[in-house]
Amino acid sequence: MIIIDLLCDQGHRFEGWFASGEAFRDQSQRHLVLCPHCQTSGVSQLPSAPHLKRGATELAPSAKPPAVPPAPALARLHEALVSMAKKAENVGERFPEEARRIHYDEAPARSIRGVATIDETRELLEEGIVVLPAPVPPDDELH
Ligand SMILES: [Zn+2]
Repeated sequence: MIIIDLLCDQGHRFEGWFASGEAFRDQSQRHLVLCPHCQTSGVSQLPSAPHLKRGATELAPSAKPPAVPPAPALARLHEALVSMAKKAENVGERFPEEARRIHYDEAPARSIRGVATIDETRELLEEGIVVLPAPVPPDDELH
């Protein structure tokens, strides 16, 4: 019994067990040697290569568990906004006024959220008041 390294025309490498090299050539010529992966009979003998590791013809399934796909960035951003908004006091349309009062120490420093027009936001920024324009999640997500 001999073991012959074989390669099918689809690129699969496998080992065949034969009574002799003559038996392999005989079966191969009669298309009796089939690739175990794709059943093609287009199989040829690999040149004997001692440096090739036995068993390397089989692709070992990866031992690593599949990586957890990262949560979509948008979902994370949304969660962060909801979390920020939950902690912030909702001052609604008084936002520019409250932001100013906090900035000038006329009101206790705290996180607030609310609405401001583009003009109001620009004025706040020009006064050095840091505001973060962000889409505010709907209120029903904050409870
Ligand atoms: Zn094959």
